[in-house]
Amino acid sequence: MERRTRGSILNGYLKFIKEKYGGSELKVARADMGIDNLNFKDGQYYQDEIIGNILRWINRNKGEDAVKEAGRFLLHNLGILSWMIRFSDFQTLVLKFPKNYSEVYAFGNCEVDASDPNKIKMTLKDVCYYEEACLAWEGICEEALTITKTQGKVSHTFCENRGEKQCVFTIEISQ
Ligand SMILES: [Zn+2]
Repeated sequence: MERRTRGSILNGYLKFIKEKYGGSELKVARADMGIDNLNFKDGQYYQDEIIGNILRWINRNKGEDAVKEAGRFLLHNLGILSWMIRFSDFQTLVLKFPKNYSEVYAFGNCEVDASDPNKIKMTLKDVCYYEEACLAWEGICEEALTITKTQGKVSHTFCENRGEKQCVFTIEISQ
């Protein structure tokens, strides 16, 4: 299956490496990944494997927490298009995830169940085909809590990389 993702996501993760570790480290990373001289346009779609390579590079060289931080960075600094608009609360923000997901990722599926406002579930199907994707999405959920000043905890309750049908992130809100 050909998975394609908008360049804005790709550029967001490259920007994370640059801002966190510096331009020279980004050069090293680009060389390691074989994308030295490639420029990616925000509005164009590219093979998602390139993002997989970036997140795996971060994991290998900087550790798992850095991959989560990259997810946080993506939501915070880029806002993945309209995710950046001002939102009043966590639930409103998270309910926008599926629509915005489908605008930037041309594969897989994202659903949010907020029927219990204190225990919101985000389900990703055929999205996290490698472990680092799960870590980045965990970071994205955590950052959604942070920027809406909401107390809560993110758990990765089901995972395709553990052989389950889909990845589920459960966000328990503590009032
Ligand atoms: Zn997972």
